[in-house]
Amino acid sequence: MPHTPTSPNTGPKPSGERRPAPDRGRTLLGPALALVHTGQAPTRSALTSALDVTRATAGAISAELEALGLITVDSSPAGGGRGRPSHRLAVDPSGPVVIAAQIHADGLSIALAGLGGRLEEPVHLPLPDATDPVRLLSAVARAGADLARASGRRCLGAALALPNPVTEPDGAALAALHFAWPSGTPVADLFAEQLRKADLGPRARMPLPSTVANDANLAALAEHRHGAGRGSRHLLLVTSGHRGVGGALVIDGRLHTGSAGLAMEVGHLTVDPQGRPCACGNRGCLNSETDPEALFAAADRTPDPRRPLLEQARELARAAAADPRARAAVDHVVDRLGLGLAGLVNILNPDRIVLSGLHRDLLAAAPERLAAVVADRCLLGRSGRMPIVAAEVTHAGLVGAAELAWEPLLHDPQAVAAGTVAGTRGERQK
Ligand SMILES: [Zn+2]
Repeated sequence: MPHTPTSPNTGPKPSGERRPAPDRGRTLLGPALALVHTGQAPTRSALTSALDVTRATAGAISAELEALGLITVDSSPAGGGRGRPSHRLAVDPSGPVVIAAQIHADGLSIALAGLGGRLEEPVHLPLPDATDPVRLLSAVARAGADLARASGRRCLGAALALPNPVTEPDGAALAALHFAWPSGTPVADLFAEQLRKADLGPRARMPLPSTVANDANLAALAEHRHGAGRGSRHLLLVTSGHRGVGGALVIDGRLHTGSAGLAMEVGHLTVDPQGRPCACGNRGCLNSETDPEALFAAADRTPDPRRPLLEQARELARAAAADPRARAAVDHVVDRLGLGLAGLVNILNPDRIVLSGLHRDLLAAAPERLAAVVADRCLLGRSGRMPIVAAEVTHAGLVGAAELAWEPLLHDPQAVAAGTVAGTRGERQK
């Protein structure tokens, strides 16, 4: 299925009309749920003004979402004390869940997520010895199904984050070098097939809608809706997790994924023509100049092969405060990261940059230096208006995958939730 996220965070486009027409009420259910889901409508009066509707319409909409088992409406006075107390709105803690999963160089992570970006503690599994796609995807599907069955909650979808580019709309993996998958492996289809075979329990939507996407894209979505990117209009995220560098752009709440899902492959920007070799055959790409291996190379140190590389690179970045060799390595890598960011800023004109993975630690280790390199190379930076901030969301790939899995519900809560809401009374919906 297509996996281009829609935009809950931009909310509705208010028309200025104030008619509580029933069909308008239904079309506003999705935007209303998105506002509660992203924390932008904590009360019914906030919902009323965000949707630009009458109090009566907002009341009807919140009652409908409550009846669908998606939100709770608490009529006890909410804080603030200004004017009449408003009903508090929150996602229903016993509401539906989705399965969020991520395959990365160090293993598999699987978690359930409720609305509101509420991720349950993930299960982490080591990579199986054989990393062929079917083996990996069946392990993910089985682990997700175990969690869904054990939770007893309605399960409405699943999404998987991958560390490689994923085509749209067919969901094929390209350049999945970590696992040596053939280029063009139809991951979306294989994942759906493994979920069909898994025992998801009596309360899952069947067949369970599922989708796959690139992990940096999903991290950007997570930061935009629940983290350091909230409120930004043109959010650029750059990250280095294990090997290489990922980038993503969220414009007005929507991921910019290009014509085939392959936009924002920032890793092959040249930042040093004489630099380290990259898997693409060139030298000095952002990938090979600013990832964990690059930091170790700059420090002339060798990481322990038994420990996750990112963890060790983070320690090395933090050591810059006291260790001159680590300091020099951080400065070397930060200068190249700054060149890459400046190039992206000149092309994309974002209003915020969120740095994640190792880049978050590099920002913490050398914030002024990084800002100065960016400022020196781009007009926007020179004007002093280019905020570069640290990512905030823990397990952002998983939180972003959950966002993707929520898309159908946020698009039409009634169609998706009404089919399963009777399940709250113990019936299985066909
Ligand atoms: Zn390259």
